[in-house]
Amino acid sequence: MNLFPLFADLSGRAVLIVGGGSVAERKAALLLAAHARIDVVAQTMTPTLTQWASAGDVRHLAREFAPEQLDGHWLAIAATDDAALNAQVASAANARRIFVNVVDAAALSTFHVPAIVDRAPLVIAISSGGTAPMLARLARERIESLIDHSWGALADLLARARARIRARWPRLEARRRFYETVLRGPVAQLVQQQRHAEAQAALERMLGAQEHALTTIVSTEDKAVEGHGGDESRVGSVVLVGAGPGDPGLLTLHALRALNEADVIVHDRLVSDAILDLARRDAERIDVGKQAGFHRLQQPLINKLMLEHARAGKRVLRLKGGDPFVFGRGGEEIEFLRAHGIAFSVVPGVTAASACAAYAGIPLTHREHAQSVRFFTAHKKLTEYSIAHKPLGETLAIYMGVGEFATVREELLASGLAPQTPFAIIENGTRPQQRVVLGKLDELVARARACDVRSPALLIVGEVASLAASHHWFGAPPEID
Ligand code: SAH
Repeated sequence: MNLFPLFADLSGRAVLIVGGGSVAERKAALLLAAHARIDVVAQTMTPTLTQWASAGDVRHLAREFAPEQLDGHWLAIAATDDAALNAQVASAANARRIFVNVVDAAALSTFHVPAIVDRAPLVIAISSGGTAPMLARLARERIESLIDHSWGALADLLARARARIRARWPRLEARRRFYETVLRGPVAQLVQQQRHAEAQAALERMLGAQEHALTTIVSTEDKAVEGHGGDESRVGSVVLVGAGPGDPGLLTLHALRALNEADVIVHDRLVSDAILDLARRDAERIDVGKQAGFHRLQQPLINKLMLEHARAGKRVLRLKGGDPFVFGRGGEEIEFLRAHGIAFSVVPGVTAASACAAYAGIPLTHREHAQSVRFFTAHKKLTEYSIAHKPLGETLAIYMGVGEFATVREELLASGLAPQTPFAIIENGTRPQQRVVLGKLDELVARARACDVRSPALLIVGEVASLAASHHWFGAPPEID
């Protein structure tokens, strides 16, 4: 079956629905959204259809179907559970050259209702020609996850400026380049950031700019790019994305979209291959794998890379393990970008503490065991935190501790934690090779050594840690002494 795809304007036009059940109701809802006039022929109607009828949104034409009822209608839908009646509606509609959809009967239908991804006014319709509705549904799911909800607002913005854009760039080639710049650049980013006035202003500036200067238009910090080559400085943007702890299923939709759109990906060592595999195939990947102890050396290099690529007009994805704002130096990176006038946005990720706790069966807070949770890093500054004043029943999540378990143990004991306080070490949390080691604070160092714990690992200290013994559900069972 070779179907011709089309979008129909049904506004104010009459459509006949035969049937009053839940399927008919769903079709009526779609038609109402398109402002069609709806007539229903049905013995009985669902409560919602009845309500629409009494509100005047649909008209209950008759209880019994008669072919003449079709006259004057642009489309018909047969949605009864009586196959013979549906077939009768179809043949009567065909005789009158009225397009008809028979629910669940592709062969009797002269039009199909596609699966849709709705970013009105942008609508994507998917059809398998009635052969494989499941495949169409799957395709819809995929596309749904790829297309940001802000595209609707973007389409509206462009629709309002369409005539002016056409007048400003009469040549199709130039107009294409203009749209390309809008859609891949700061205007789209501002719309996504819900900064509509600024998006409008950026669009206005682009409409006023010379063609060769189009790509120099920046969203907010125009002055900051002065002195960086003027016209040649094509300005891209940076999105700081949290990749979560490793399991690709824990990516956000925004992260997935950013992976699909990026020109350049600057990623940490902690980001798993399974996640990098989801990136656009032709994106350039730069591994800036930070090893413990080399942070200070690496950061200026990372900053330089982001800046160079953004200034070359690229969409840069700065991909970090976990959440960029939890021990991820995300704050410093956006300060740097701000200072250099590069547009940026931030996508949070599932941080190791949440993820490791969940995948180990450890609730970070619990009515009976812990009223609060604190995130620490074991690196150097641990002594500066005042663990001593910890309220009763607090969970401690300690990042980056593998090399410092001895110090951590000593400090926690010195600050008043009982030697019997339970701990859990989660190594490679959420990944196929996840391991969980349980014990009491007193024996932390010995247990970690005996079990040969390696980085990345997260340490959870507090009553809740012992719950992993009974609540674990993912990967290998916990190692208990
Ligand atoms: N921004 C990251 C943390 C970076 S610090 C986040 O929000 O998760 C790096 C430390 O995070 C590691 O040393 C380890 O303690 C912890 N970590 C990150 N991913 C982990 C994982 N999959 N399993 C266990 N710990 C992890």
